[in-house]
Amino acid sequence: MKPRLFSADPKASYLAAQAEIDAAVARVLASGTYIHGPELAAFERELAAYLGARDAAGVANGTDALELALRALGVGAGDKVATVANTVTATVAAIVATGAQPVFVEVEAQTMLMDAARLAERFAAADGASIKAVIPVHLYGLPCDLAAIVGVARRHGAKVIEDCAQAHGSTFGGRKVGTFGDLAAFSFYPTKNLGALGDAGAIVGNDAALLDRVRALRQYGWHTRYVSDEHGRNSRLDEIQAAILRVRLGRLDRENAHRARLAAAYLTGLAGEPLELPIVPSARSHTWHQFVVRTPQREALKVYLEGEGIHCGVLYPVPVHQQTAYRQEVSLPETERACREVLSLPLHPGVTEADVARVCAAVRAWRV
Ligand SMILES: *Cc1c(COP(=O)(O)O)cnc(C)c1O
Repeated sequence: MKPRLFSADPKASYLAAQAEIDAAVARVLASGTYIHGPELAAFERELAAYLGARDAAGVANGTDALELALRALGVGAGDKVATVANTVTATVAAIVATGAQPVFVEVEAQTMLMDAARLAERFAAADGASIKAVIPVHLYGLPCDLAAIVGVARRHGAKVIEDCAQAHGSTFGGRKVGTFGDLAAFSFYPTKNLGALGDAGAIVGNDAALLDRVRALRQYGWHTRYVSDEHGRNSRLDEIQAAILRVRLGRLDRENAHRARLAAAYLTGLAGEPLELPIVPSARSHTWHQFVVRTPQREALKVYLEGEGIHCGVLYPVPVHQQTAYRQEVSLPETERACREVLSLPLHPGVTEADVARVCAAVRAWRV
């Protein structure tokens, strides 16, 4: 019986750095400081330096990072925020949490990322003037067309918050994503390329006043301890997770390089098969959070691979505009096709090139 393969394996990421992570956790436990201490301050500095941004502020998770970034930019009730519907519901939940309304923009057929031309159309529509912010999602690790999207948003006076939850280290024109918008939101959910062993997130940016505002919003609206200047939240990144993230940040480039080798092996091993394979437009680098193939026979392929011990993911099966909590009557045929066709093959730091060869052989032997 061959070992089973999964599309994510956070325990493998822990075991790969177990001694270092255990030591980091022990250091925090012995320190007596568990919230907002030296580990968080160091992680924030190291993350900002890694990305080439001025500053980063840790928060409790990626959803909070998006919500607090929107609030720091002044987005709230009566405003609209443009994003895509083939994302985790968290992107949309964050918009709704501010009191704003989501506007769903169609995606490009090939990349499945926000289509800048369709975004421009949404700004030109009757309600376009109420769109105060745009959240492009760098889905699966591939950057959106940031030059075009930021250009459209700027022309209409709207803010840009990059959703970088799946794109730690991805670049556009040689520059890391998370440095193009007004603010960027990161999640460090355990399965992300940079993952904690629990919940964590961060807001990244270049504007010191905005980051100050974020730091107030993440702790009860305090600018001065015990005195709230505005209504804030409790959304803190604790010292244990910050210490773990510092270890994992030091390994991120190596792990992303491993992901890139696996993706190259998939692209070679699956060439010529009746599947749509991922493309990487020029001047962008992909960090392969997911390796996503497409076929109208997605369900059949998924069940077949499960029979071979290969467990694949589907990100995401139902577009957000068709979910009960966020339903909207809007025509998004490319988004809906993506949700019907996508399948994530196993790709994470615990996968080997031999595993990829096994998956490719299984896919090549598949007959509809
Ligand atoms: C994971 C993820 C989030 C939410 O992050 P949490 O840490 O789970 O709150 C938001 N957007 C995208 C694209 C994600 O993948």
